[in-house]
Amino acid sequence: SDVLLSVRDMVVDFPTRHGLLRAVDHVSFDLSRGEVLGLVGESGAGKSITGAAIIGLIEPPGHISGGTVHLDGSRIDNLGMEEMRRIRGKRVGMVFQDPLTSLNPLYTIAKQLIQTIRTHLDLTEKQARARAIGLLEEVGIPAADKRIDDYPHQFSGGMRQRVVIALALCAGPELIIADEPTTALDVSVQSQIIDVLKRMCAEHGTAVILITHDMGVIAEAADRVAVLYSGRIAEIGPVREVIKQAKHPYTKGLMRSIPTLTQTNDRLTQIPGTMPRITDRPEGCAFAPRCGHVMDICRSQQPATRSVGNCEVACHLETEGGAS
Ligand code: SF4
Ligand code: MG
Repeated sequence: SDVLLSVRDMVVDFPTRHGLLRAVDHVSFDLSRGEVLGLVGESGAGKSITGAAIIGLIEPPGHISGGTVHLDGSRIDNLGMEEMRRIRGKRVGMVFQDPLTSLNPLYTIAKQLIQTIRTHLDLTEKQARARAIGLLEEVGIPAADKRIDDYPHQFSGGMRQRVVIALALCAGPELIIADEPTTALDVSVQSQIIDVLKRMCAEHGTAVILITHDMGVIAEAADRVAVLYSGRIAEIGPVREVIKQAKHPYTKGLMRSIPTLTQTNDRLTQIPGTMPRITDRPEGCAFAPRCGHVMDICRSQQPATRSVGNCEVACHLETEGGAS
């Protein structure tokens, strides 16, 4: 089938002194081959934890308490650590905010790329080096055949993130999880890096989960977007449709925060109020304390997810026959 990744009813809990913190609360979505799915939301909405849970990287005592993850039809959330490590190296690549988390400062770029390639693909040293240089050229490293023998500190932040993208792609993964890949970079290079990520994944047929707090990045790069709020998906659908006609009141607020669409610099914080701490999430809809459309039912009942057009929306306005 065309579905590469299927996440169903994912629940991730962290025990804390104040009780169980439910960081991800029944999140479900599918990702098609070659598709770019954005996960967007404020800090603490559960985006990074969702990404980490998919590839078995939740740090204990945090744990997945429910749900399933299927990759290409096979269940992967119940695999052992060794099998999961193999999937992370070969079938799922990762790009994090800080390129230096992915690169070893003590080794040349050549050593790291060639080692990763040869761990996962049956190539000679010479073939692996040629593949590595080819990838560095593709991500836009000038004089790649020379620069490959440099160390990470000899590259600028933007060039390092290009190297990390090459590293994430070098074993030919089906999926890349990119968590705030441009947040640590100069504004001037951010959209170049998004372009490189998008182009490389398109050319290699790699699907992407793009995690970001920045709706502008989503608008630029994603095919579909899932808007997370307080550990739940508020709305998910094709980016064009969500941007043109957001349905969930929180998503509407997010859309007003895209500077390029409104010519202002309003940020997510311009939505009045703050996201509830996940330990004192209200009963009913978590957005109720900030919502301009709040109804009585919103404070007592969690909204179910309904299909509206090509989107899925969790809001009582869509279930009560209310305004649209
Ligand atoms: Fe607002 Fe109610 Fe919809 Fe929540 S369910 S977003 S409170 S209208
Ligand atoms: Mg994060």
